[in-house]
Amino acid sequence: MAGEDDSRYRPATRLVTGGRSGSFSRDVVNPPIWRASTHLYADCADLRARKSSNEDGSFFYGRRGAPTQWALCDALTALEPGAAGTVLYPSGLAALAGSLLAVLRSGDVLLVADNAYDPTRSTAMGLLKTFGIEHRFFDPLDLEAYEAAFCERTRAVMLEVPGSLTMEVCDIPALARIARAKGAVSLVDNTWATALGFAALGHGCDIAITALTKHVGGHSDVMMGAASAGKRWYRRLRLGAQQLGHVVSPDDAALVLRGLRTMGVRLERQSASALAIAEWLASRKEVAHVLSPMLSGTPGHALWQRDFTGGCGLFSFVLKGRDDAVRCRLVDRLELFGIGYSWGGFESLALPFDVEPVRSKMPWPKPGWGVEDRHAIRLSIGLEDTHDLIADLANGFAALNEG
Ligand SMILES: *Cc1c(COP(=O)(O)O)cnc(C)c1O
Repeated sequence: MAGEDDSRYRPATRLVTGGRSGSFSRDVVNPPIWRASTHLYADCADLRARKSSNEDGSFFYGRRGAPTQWALCDALTALEPGAAGTVLYPSGLAALAGSLLAVLRSGDVLLVADNAYDPTRSTAMGLLKTFGIEHRFFDPLDLEAYEAAFCERTRAVMLEVPGSLTMEVCDIPALARIARAKGAVSLVDNTWATALGFAALGHGCDIAITALTKHVGGHSDVMMGAASAGKRWYRRLRLGAQQLGHVVSPDDAALVLRGLRTMGVRLERQSASALAIAEWLASRKEVAHVLSPMLSGTPGHALWQRDFTGGCGLFSFVLKGRDDAVRCRLVDRLELFGIGYSWGGFESLALPFDVEPVRSKMPWPKPGWGVEDRHAIRLSIGLEDTHDLIADLANGFAALNEG
């Protein structure tokens, strides 16, 4: 498998070599876009043999993929040390929900990090609940409370690092170790760093989930998700995805694969730019807190330095006092930052967000903060010139101060 061939290379090289050793992509740099619902068999014996094998890389029917999707799976597997395979899903959320459904059964309890992506929380509170799966939220920064939250029926733990919107870095090796000792599966949403910046399975997690829509696609033109795992859980994920009928289009897979090839340089550039902008924001009198583990002196920075090999352009900041209308004046004045969901594309985005509705255990404002310091903005830093982005933000602050 491509993943094994590539393991002697460093991650940046694997971004380029991954998924290119399949027999269909030997004669061209990129695998052909193989649009097919129907694959043809040589004869009846061939038909029967393929039906019973259900192996990766073997034609059966379009729903089990074709060389374009397999090339992307192989490239992602090559990037994740410890992975036996990768399953693709039509969105990041489908990867999260599909993985949880593959792991959990009626009567199980799922522990969900309180700072998980809001739709992940909704899936736990909605769909999973209707299937008889219970959930408990926990503060991933409080190891004692986390350990105490396990019960006999706890089957899985849903982690995310850094936490959505508020960017806390939790101690993944410790959380995963406790989960394993308790006999629970640990899943982690690794969309922020991707496998390039954080080796999720290498740090003890069982299933690594990435919204490819963000950094891997990288161009705001495609939606997809992936889950990678070692042999045992990979089999379960793949079977679950097959039974749910998940399949991604070869055109989308080619777009994501194209994005993957340049992800290393994009993330490097976006991280550097984000750090410069975070430092600039930290020096503004209107800003109470910059929430970025890449910024030295912030909570989570030490864990980020210990466990991560990279960052990205996504971080948040909190205004000092003020109200929502003032926050909107700032955001509305921005020209280079679009207002919109998603992130990880080549273009910068800004998003005002409120934390209270999406937390059950972690207080907001955080302990020790001013009670008025609650109005937050998330920035996704793109590939524009850093100075232009800072000048744009300075205009935003001018608008904020006009009132
Ligand atoms: C966007 C996002 C997802 C979901 O990805 P989609 O492709 O939009 O479904 C999952 N996790 C995190 C942290 C995200 O930001």
